[in-house]
Amino acid sequence: MPALTAYSDQPLAHPTPDTPAAERLWLALVALGLLALAVTAAAPAGLREPAFWLGLALLSAGALGWSWWKFGRDAGGVRHDYLWARASTSRGAVAWVTGVALTGFYVVLYWWPEYLENLIRPLDGLSQLLRRRPADQWFLYGTFYTLAVLLMGGRALLKYRHSPYQRVRTASVMFFQLGFAWLLPGVLLALQQPEFYFTYFWPLKYDYLFPGGVQALLQNGHLGAFMVGWGLIMSFVATPVLTYFFGKRWYCSWVCGCGGLAETAGDPYRHLSDKRREAWRYEVSIVYTVLGFIIVTTALLWLNTRLGGALLGRLSDEFSRTYGFVVGALFSGVVGVGFYPLLGSRVWCRYGCPMAAYLGLLQKHFSRFRITTNGGQCISCGNCSNVCEMGIDVKQYAQRGEPIIRAACVGCGLCSTACPRGVLNLENGPREGRYQPSQLIRAESLRILD
Ligand code: SF4
Ligand code: SF4
Repeated sequence: MPALTAYSDQPLAHPTPDTPAAERLWLALVALGLLALAVTAAAPAGLREPAFWLGLALLSAGALGWSWWKFGRDAGGVRHDYLWARASTSRGAVAWVTGVALTGFYVVLYWWPEYLENLIRPLDGLSQLLRRRPADQWFLYGTFYTLAVLLMGGRALLKYRHSPYQRVRTASVMFFQLGFAWLLPGVLLALQQPEFYFTYFWPLKYDYLFPGGVQALLQNGHLGAFMVGWGLIMSFVATPVLTYFFGKRWYCSWVCGCGGLAETAGDPYRHLSDKRREAWRYEVSIVYTVLGFIIVTTALLWLNTRLGGALLGRLSDEFSRTYGFVVGALFSGVVGVGFYPLLGSRVWCRYGCPMAAYLGLLQKHFSRFRITTNGGQCISCGNCSNVCEMGIDVKQYAQRGEPIIRAACVGCGLCSTACPRGVLNLENGPREGRYQPSQLIRAESLRILD
């Protein structure tokens, strides 16, 4: 009998299994769909419509078929198998190719939309039907975005169908994206009204409360005035009240389109969020700086308007343009979504979104929301930390039996869904006693401010 040694020539872990033939077939349909869309971008006029719709049909059929094959045939549940071994979900070659392709799409969309003309024109019919005008780059983007939320929402519904919370939450983001971020703004345009998004508020949709944005809306009679009032009430009344009762999850994980994309299309990458304490420090310093910038900019612009432009002159336009470029385009689009496969699904929500910062402050200091932990049951498997898209090391709290009260937590509930021992519960209890004394001492000594 050979002697037992600490090391062996044989690999210790199970190698990543080959992808089964049926799964390859569904993925091949997705690849063919993407190929057809790529061909559309360079196809002659007569070919572009059939290639475009064929591409979307193949992509949709492949994505839904793959989701059913992978998640629909046995009991639903959170699976971590080979997540950190597969090239697509462990920052391997497939993830890099996906990231570069997504980033490239955003760069072309923002700066060279003329190269997307062949993809935009086939949507003219749909755009005329919905908006009574030809399609443009933003209609193309909104349509692709909504399709991604619906298709990958279907995947999430199958994958997490064992959890009522996840089912309802996923259905909610799909509903708000389709109804309030795609259909309704289109119908408003068809009725010659402003293209208004009722699910985005200041400070995320900062220009809705900038003087120029308010003045533009007020030129549209009663409906414009209603939109301004809606924005004010949602930002300064409904947001604090709803966050007091439910935490920031009512918005970040149930309503917001950015969160909707992260929870559906971004779900395969949620484990990639950086859990290190340094990342937490960067998060706090960057996201609150963005919020501060928006507050100061809004105040300065209103002051400037009151003074008839004497304060900033033409600088006020520069302010809005610079913020729109750096944060609106570069951060939320190019980095926020383009880097999903490399940095995780909530980079924008965690580091850049001023609404998340505002909601986080409310959640941390003026809310009943917390995740309670039953430390005695924790087996330290780490499933909860692995699935946390906001980089929270949930296991650390669970092991100590401490409630989780973090500004960053978007209340997605996946940590609770993934826990095999029922340790974690999302609760809206009384504010008194949310913190344990040991947490207050530690927060003070670490100077963690969020
Ligand atoms: S702590 Fe749990 S509920 Fe909060 S963001 Fe992380 S996984 Fe979601
Ligand atoms: S709380 Fe649950 S999921 Fe997290 S480490 Fe403990 S047993 Fe595992």
